[in-house]
Amino acid sequence: MKTLVLKAGRDKSVKRRHPWIFSGAIERVDGNPESGETVLVKSAQGKILALAAWSPASQIRARVWSFDPGVTVNGEFFGTKIRAAAALRAALPASGHTNAMRLVHAESDGLPGLVVDRYDDVLVAQFLSAGAEHWREAILDALAAATGCEAIYERSDAEVRSLEGLAPRIGFARGNRQAKRCPIAEHGLNFRVDVEAGQKTGFFLDQRENRQRIRALAEGREVLDAFCYTGGFSLAALAGGALHVSAVDSSAEALDIARENLAANPLDASRIAFAKADVFAHQRLLRDRGKSFGLIVLDPPKFAPTAAQVKNAARAYKDINLMALKLLKPGGLLASFSCSGGVSAELFQSIVAGAASDAGVDAKIIERFGAAADHPVALNFPEGDYLKGLLLLRT
Ligand code: SAH
Repeated sequence: MKTLVLKAGRDKSVKRRHPWIFSGAIERVDGNPESGETVLVKSAQGKILALAAWSPASQIRARVWSFDPGVTVNGEFFGTKIRAAAALRAALPASGHTNAMRLVHAESDGLPGLVVDRYDDVLVAQFLSAGAEHWREAILDALAAATGCEAIYERSDAEVRSLEGLAPRIGFARGNRQAKRCPIAEHGLNFRVDVEAGQKTGFFLDQRENRQRIRALAEGREVLDAFCYTGGFSLAALAGGALHVSAVDSSAEALDIARENLAANPLDASRIAFAKADVFAHQRLLRDRGKSFGLIVLDPPKFAPTAAQVKNAARAYKDINLMALKLLKPGGLLASFSCSGGVSAELFQSIVAGAASDAGVDAKIIERFGAAADHPVALNFPEGDYLKGLLLLRT
């Protein structure tokens, strides 16, 4: 097998079972592997440490499939991993009330570069690394066999693919059906998911339990759902007895589906208003109109996908949180999220603290949020812990 040899003293991360091998840690590669091919990873002393996928275009030059050199990376390898991932989800309490879950969460399920979400009987797969791309057919076969799903839609259009030197690819990889409105249910609420043109794979499954939490907090409150997408938090708040919900997003397509989602549930449509607007400007407009709210949800897009964008992202997070805190009534709640990999939980908390201080508002953290359990975080892969949120009480 072709071999990747690490520099002397650069094997600590692999020995701690972190699955990423950066270009700077590599002494040499023997045998000229092709993109995605499996290579043996050796220390400078010649000890075999792992089997990894070679990714020549990326700074993450190899991603580990297994730390057990006795393993063979083949179709059965993927079958075993995918069956284990599916079994983990089947055992979660959420499987009792939803037909939509993340089935494979990349590195955290031992499958670097592979993300698979299930929406009822349709799977949506993202092949985001050279290794996942190399094994695409075997992975698709294993997914179909493990789930019985005949339709697999590919959304390999995430930006990270370009870092791997891979062109985007979208469309049905297996089966074919109408997939612009996959019907799903979550905690008794109905949603339609556009897996073909929606954002990411179509729905933000990671927020499932946090939407349920908002539902429990919404009773009797005026709610602002900023960055509402297809109305996940808005509908949860309405179902929880919110007096009124103002739902804001810049995407007309997302708002169209949000209205369809509203109609798919027995909820009082007179208690919700949708606005197509930029949240940064809209919050100022609300302030100028003297509006205030008892519960605000801020769930913006990833302002900082990587560490490089952190400075601008920090400014953006501070701005929306500052405005939200000003729009909160005393006794009001702010659920503020960040899904930026480049912004740690500590940094996020300090940004929000700075926003409160500049706003001249006293607030306390009364809860913290993370991603739902179908988005596990492997302990050897802390990067998987991307979603963080704070529930603040304005005192
Ligand atoms: N809370 C949602 C997910 C939000 S995703 C849920 O639970 O389903 C982030 C959303 O922010 C996207 O719908 C995107 O269209 C929207 N968005 C991005 N930039 C925006 C801006 N400046 N103003 C308003 N919406 C924006």
